[in-house]
Amino acid sequence: MASKDAFDYDLFVLGAGSGGVRAARMAAGHGARVGICEESRVGGTCVIRGCVPKKLLVYASEFSKAFKDAEGFGWSAGRPTFSWSDLIANKDQEIDRLNGIYLKLLSNAGVDLINGRGRLLDGHRVEINDRVITAERILIAVGGRPRMLDIPGKEHAITSDEAFHLPTLPKRILIVGAGYIAVEFAGIFNGLGVDVTLAYRGGKILRGFDHDVQDTVEQALIGRGVNIVYQTTPTAIEPGAEGLTVHFDAHTSEAFDSVMMAAGRVPYTWDLGLAEAGVAVDEAGAIVVDEYSQTSQPSVYAVGDVTNRINLTPVALMEGHAMADTVFGHMDRAVDHEAVPAAVFSQPPVGSVGLSEHQAREQGFQVTVFKSTFTPMKATLAGGGEQGLMKLVVDAASDRVLGVHVVGPDAPEMVQGFAVAVKAKLTKQDFDRTIGIHPTAAEELVTLRTPATP
Ligand code: NDP
Repeated sequence: MASKDAFDYDLFVLGAGSGGVRAARMAAGHGARVGICEESRVGGTCVIRGCVPKKLLVYASEFSKAFKDAEGFGWSAGRPTFSWSDLIANKDQEIDRLNGIYLKLLSNAGVDLINGRGRLLDGHRVEINDRVITAERILIAVGGRPRMLDIPGKEHAITSDEAFHLPTLPKRILIVGAGYIAVEFAGIFNGLGVDVTLAYRGGKILRGFDHDVQDTVEQALIGRGVNIVYQTTPTAIEPGAEGLTVHFDAHTSEAFDSVMMAAGRVPYTWDLGLAEAGVAVDEAGAIVVDEYSQTSQPSVYAVGDVTNRINLTPVALMEGHAMADTVFGHMDRAVDHEAVPAAVFSQPPVGSVGLSEHQAREQGFQVTVFKSTFTPMKATLAGGGEQGLMKLVVDAASDRVLGVHVVGPDAPEMVQGFAVAVKAKLTKQDFDRTIGIHPTAAEELVTLRTPATP
C-alpha cells in the first residue's frame, strides 16, 4: 500500500451537493487534504434545483389564496397580477447568491474544487477531464436524477429540473406521480392559476405517509381544484395543434400544455466506474454502504441520495458529517436514521416524524391514537373550511409517543420541534404535562386527551 503522501489528496469527493460539501469541509477541518469535483453547479440538487427554489415557488403560489383571504380581514387590494418571468428571475438571483456562499464555504475550508465529472479508475484514482487524481479515500456524493418514464414522446415531457426554468407558465399541466415532488408541484401550479391534473398509478397520494395524512392532503388538493386521477399511467405523449395529447393506459387521452414526470428519482451511478473500482450497487443502482457509509471497496465511501437510504438533504448532511468525523476525526460516528422528521410542502403542508399508525401496528405495537381535525383560526374571517390534522401515535404499553403527524399551516415548523420529543422517546404523559401556547394550532398536540376510537 502506498504511503499517505503518495496520494494527491487524503479525501477526494465526487459531487458538491449537500452531503459532499459537508463531508469535504468537515474532513478539511480535521486536517485532511481535500479535493472535490462537480459537473454542474456547486450546491447540488437541494440548492440549485430542489428544496430551495421549490420553497420559493411555494411561497409565490401561496399569494393567490392570501389575496383572497385578505378580503375577509377588510383589505381590498384590487386585482393582483402575476409575472412568472419576474419570479423565475428573482429566484435565479437567489440561487446564484447561495451558489456563491457554497463556493466560499469550500475555499474558506481550503478544499480544492475541480469542475467536471469524476469517474473512478480504481479505489484510489479518479479521472476528470483527462486528468487523473489520486486519493487515499474517495467519497461518492453524486445524488440522484429524475426518473423519466420510457414511453413514446417522453422527450416532450419535463421533470422538476426543467419546471424551475419554464419559459412561460402553462395553462394546463399533467403531473405524473403522487409522491413529494408531484404533490408539491401540484400545489405550486394550482396556486399560480394553472389547471392541474395529477395522474397516479396507485390509489392514494403520498404513499408511505400516515393514512390520515394522505386523506387530509388529498381532500385539500381536490378542494383547491386539483384533478386527481388514480390507477392511471400515461402510455404516450403526442404533440399537435391542441398542445401535448397524452394517451393513458385506460385508453383515454387528454391535451395539456405541459407534462411533468414526478415518478421518483434514481441514484446517479451510471458511468461512474463503480464496477472497475469494485464498488457494489443494489438492484436499484444505489451504492451499497454500511453504517459508516463505507462501500464494498474499503477506500471508497458514499453518502446522500446515491445510496438511496433516506433521500433528504439533512440526512445527507448527517451522513457526510459522520463519515468525515469517523474517518478523519477519529470518532466513532455511525449514521443515525432513527426518527428522521420529514415535510411535504404541499398546500396545506405536512410535517411528520416517527411511525405512522399502520407502521406502528405492523411493528407489533399496541397502538393508542390521539387525533383531531381542525380548521385554522385564520379561516374564521378568511372563509374556506380546509381541514387540518393533528395526530399522535402512542405505544399503549410504554406510553411512548411513536409518531407525530400534522397537516396544516406551518406543520413542518411545528414538527421540527416535536421531533426532539420523539427522538428523546418522550411519553404521552410528558406531552400532557406541557402547557400549550394559546392561541396556536400546535397547542392541540399537548392537549389531546381522548383516544380516537379504532
Ligand atoms: P417519490 O418516491 O416521493 O414519489 C415517486 C412517485 O412516482 C410515486 O407516486 C410513485 O408511485 C411514482 N412512480 C414511481 N415509478 C413509477 C413508474 N414507473 N410509473 C408511474 N409512476 C411511478 O419521489 P419524488 O420524485 O416525488 O421525490 C424523490 C425523493 O426526493 C423523495 O422520495 C424524497 O425523498 C425527496 N424529496 C423530498 C422533499 C421534501 O423533503 N419536502 C421534496 C421533494 C423530494 P408509487 O407510490 O406507486 O411507488
